[in-house]
Amino acid sequence: MPTQHDQLRQLPIALGPVHNETLGSYLHRLAVANNRPAGFLARLLGPLPPEFSPLSNTTADWDPHSPGRLATLSGRPTPQLAWALPALAYFLSLRGPGQRTERLISRPCRCCTARCGPTASVVITLSPAHVHLCPRHQLWTRSTHDIPLAPLPEVIEAQRRLDQLARRHRQIRQALDLARKIVEDWSASGMPIDLGKEWTDRLDRIEALAISKKVSADDRSHLAAFPEIVVLAHLILDPPTAALDPKELYLATTAELSRRFARIYTTLGTQDPLYRQLCLYRERDFPGWTTG
Ligand SMILES: [Zn+2]
Repeated sequence: MPTQHDQLRQLPIALGPVHNETLGSYLHRLAVANNRPAGFLARLLGPLPPEFSPLSNTTADWDPHSPGRLATLSGRPTPQLAWALPALAYFLSLRGPGQRTERLISRPCRCCTARCGPTASVVITLSPAHVHLCPRHQLWTRSTHDIPLAPLPEVIEAQRRLDQLARRHRQIRQALDLARKIVEDWSASGMPIDLGKEWTDRLDRIEALAISKKVSADDRSHLAAFPEIVVLAHLILDPPTAALDPKELYLATTAELSRRFARIYTTLGTQDPLYRQLCLYRERDFPGWTTG
């Protein structure tokens, strides 16, 4: 009966990993190309991660020989694998933990993966938290399907501003999450500033695309509100006042939003998600703002 050691030899089809690919994605692609179960390959490296899938990216319970075993299977030297696979680089302590927190499970657009061969349809990568689209192919990738952005040039422009913001701020993910939450709460509870025209107009342009029927309503709304989410994230990271008092900060932020969108902001005070979220999250997620 073959032992695990006997199975550990180079696979006949030795695909390379895609830059920033998850371990689960790479192992699944190797498995498909070589007609083997992905779980079998994963078990050659260490214990099978729970709910192992292309999204898996853990090296928990790997031993010091695991990277060498992956190199044998893939027929590629460990440094080359570590350059492309962030989880392997972290395991080998080649990258600091700081980079890890700012990356999210994501995927390249279909045009980018098409260049990686027929098994590339399931490529999952880690992307910087602020990246929402493929700039080269102008496709929105924060959905189950790529959404063409040609009819939405303001989304591409908002991503450019976000790229600049990300170069100056490390807490971009927290600011975006918070901004999106505020926008969703506004939509659900009544808008203090009327952005309805922009959103309806963008939703019309999205819904005119054939792919939109395959995209969830949540994903369509996220895309439609993205430029305003970026404006809000910008104000969260670069507040319009240095005041620490939540009420002062709230009033300065609403005045700035009113100025930027050139329309009236109805200040709702403590009922406003902007006020509640800023107060709740400011000290916890943006400790740099407070003097303690
Ligand atoms: Zn692309």
